[in-house]
Amino acid sequence: MTDVMKFEVVDGVGVISIDSPPVNALGVAVRRGIRDGFDMAWADENVKAIVLICDGRTFFAGADISEFGKPPQEPSLPELVTHMEASLIPTVAAIHGTALGGGLEVAIHCHHRIALPTAKVGLPEAHLGLLPGAGGTQRLPRMVGVPTALDIITSGRHVGATEALKLGVIDAIANSDSLRDEAVAYAKKLVADDAPVVRIRDRDDLIAEHRGDAAVFDNFRKKGARKFRGFKAPENIIKCIEAAVNLPYEEGLKEERRLFMELHDSIESQAQRYVFFAERQTSRIPDVPKDTPTRDVKSAGVIGAGTMGGGITMNFLNAGIPVTLIEQTQEALDRGVSVIRKNYENSAKKGRVTAEQVDQRMALISPSTDYNDLSNTDLIIEAVFETMPIKKDVFGKLDEIARDGAILASNTSYLDLDEIAASTKRPQDVIGLHFFSPANVMPLLEIVRGEKTGKDLINTALKLAKKIGKSPVVSRVCHGFIANRVMTVRGREADAMILEGVAPDLIDRVIYDYGFAMGPFQMRDLVGLDVIGRGSNEKTVAGELVARERLGQKKNGGYYDYDENRKATLSPIAVDIIREVAQEKGVPQNPGATEDDIIARLLYPVVNEGAKLLDEGIAIRGSDIDIACIKGYNWPIYRGGPMFWADTVGLDKIVSKLGELASAHDEAFTPSPFLEKLAKDGGRLSAVSQ
Ligand code: NAD
Repeated sequence: MTDVMKFEVVDGVGVISIDSPPVNALGVAVRRGIRDGFDMAWADENVKAIVLICDGRTFFAGADISEFGKPPQEPSLPELVTHMEASLIPTVAAIHGTALGGGLEVAIHCHHRIALPTAKVGLPEAHLGLLPGAGGTQRLPRMVGVPTALDIITSGRHVGATEALKLGVIDAIANSDSLRDEAVAYAKKLVADDAPVVRIRDRDDLIAEHRGDAAVFDNFRKKGARKFRGFKAPENIIKCIEAAVNLPYEEGLKEERRLFMELHDSIESQAQRYVFFAERQTSRIPDVPKDTPTRDVKSAGVIGAGTMGGGITMNFLNAGIPVTLIEQTQEALDRGVSVIRKNYENSAKKGRVTAEQVDQRMALISPSTDYNDLSNTDLIIEAVFETMPIKKDVFGKLDEIARDGAILASNTSYLDLDEIAASTKRPQDVIGLHFFSPANVMPLLEIVRGEKTGKDLINTALKLAKKIGKSPVVSRVCHGFIANRVMTVRGREADAMILEGVAPDLIDRVIYDYGFAMGPFQMRDLVGLDVIGRGSNEKTVAGELVARERLGQKKNGGYYDYDENRKATLSPIAVDIIREVAQEKGVPQNPGATEDDIIARLLYPVVNEGAKLLDEGIAIRGSDIDIACIKGYNWPIYRGGPMFWADTVGLDKIVSKLGELASAHDEAFTPSPFLEKLAKDGGRLSAVSQ
């Protein structure tokens, strides 16, 4: 018996129950409890079999993440599971809730597994840039075969009980709610049948067929190449499974340990673990405690059924919240609604939703051209054109129509939310809810907090983000808020560099190799140059491309020409335009930029802008800026976001390079005093928190 472990003998079966709320994480006390339980069972000669079960809401849900980075304490998880597996009497893991990571590794070191129908299992370590380091990579292939093990471990996906039974991860599903009784009955039957103790390590049939078969691994690498690009964990997982197939068990385990440590010490995994914690931080707002009151959001209104309004509406429909969608004209309204339907129908074609779900969601929209239909709505989000007079006009109307206590939100990208709020008599009810395009897909939701925004609104928005599956980041008011403000400088420098003679396709390749899905010019061609280029009076390359009817992939190509397979080559017309604009502006030519020059020129200013956001108190934490860039702009997760990445590059190096760029080009590069001080004090941007 220990604080977390109870041991009882039931009809000759030793039942070890672990109770360590909230999720029975495998911290040192739990590991010791399990070990002691097995020792007690073995010491009692009346015990003929063992059941390992958890109290509370779940089986072991994984490692104890609070132990990460601390000195290991005995027994380690690998030591514990080796100890358990040596049992000479049969052992049964009884699984409810989620058996994930180390939790599943404990279960697969028992000889048998029984689970509730609602249970889920999985090895999600890849999400933290790691691999299952307590035998998981050596045992799963022996249980489910090589292709399935490759899929389950590299994807980290959760596998439900029915599938787990079919695949052979578990041996039985408990029919009733009494998992414990059924597990004991299962164990008693093993004893009665005198079933031989079979250890998974000794199973060979499923791996033997792939021994010496390099193709199964190479094909898997090829198939996953796009998804795996830049991440270290998938390759190390594949190598572990190769070792499981080709080496004796003990040797395979050593290889697993070596490859685990390699990941553990890699920047990629450190970045992924940092991001994991950073995401959980963003909803902590120092002066808005978790118990701050919230307002009910049972209905929503969206004004403007354009690109953003349509996507925003879908988020609410998906969450079962009815939406009143407002447009200026019936025609615009019909167009907006039909785009939403088409999006859903495309998802249905891909099997992501059923036809019935499409109908259910569409039935939640009430299209209207009459603002009065918003008079009873809990939350109204404005997504009309990005001009202050129109926004003010809309908010003025809302002030007259909306019920008392309704939340009035703007999706503005750049405009001053306080000015918008001032066009109402209830600025405490006004907030920014800034979605990213496509709004039904991109996970970031910036919650913009105006001078007078009520704390209850902030807390409501944080809860709402969770409900509609978005990652919230809270920003104070400034031009562009967090993500757009820091990322705009990347585009500005890309534009400057092409005018100096650096090829756009070189810049795109360097940014792609850094880990983005595409470079800035490929991105513009995809989104449409008319969308990007609008609003500028200055002569720009993008503007000239639009003037020549080159709108990007959708019409005539843009920076690139596209063949019938959408293969892109740099367009000679774009090259001519660049030269023309550069000559007209008298830009000095300096075409010989290296990859390092491009990274420094495009991304160091992003870091600098992030430092300014922290200095100005716009962002609460450095890690919030990283989450905004990852969730809003697909900054590569394994780089950790611009702030974490800057720390790995070295703030000293960045400050000195920014100084050089400022002298060579423009004062805009001047390092922020905040960044300079942090560099001097040996601080880290990713750790700044205010
Ligand atoms: P859009 O032009 O596609 O859509 C705007 C819609 O609003 C149009 O359909 C228009 O008919 C309608 N509209 C205009 N005035 C109206 C009024 N008074 N009442 C009702 N409807 C009205 O524009 P968009 O790209 O969806 O942008 C909308 C807002 O979202 C802007 O503030 C923009 O800055 C912001 N935003 C855009 C993006 C993006 O990538 N497009 C991303 C984030 C935020």
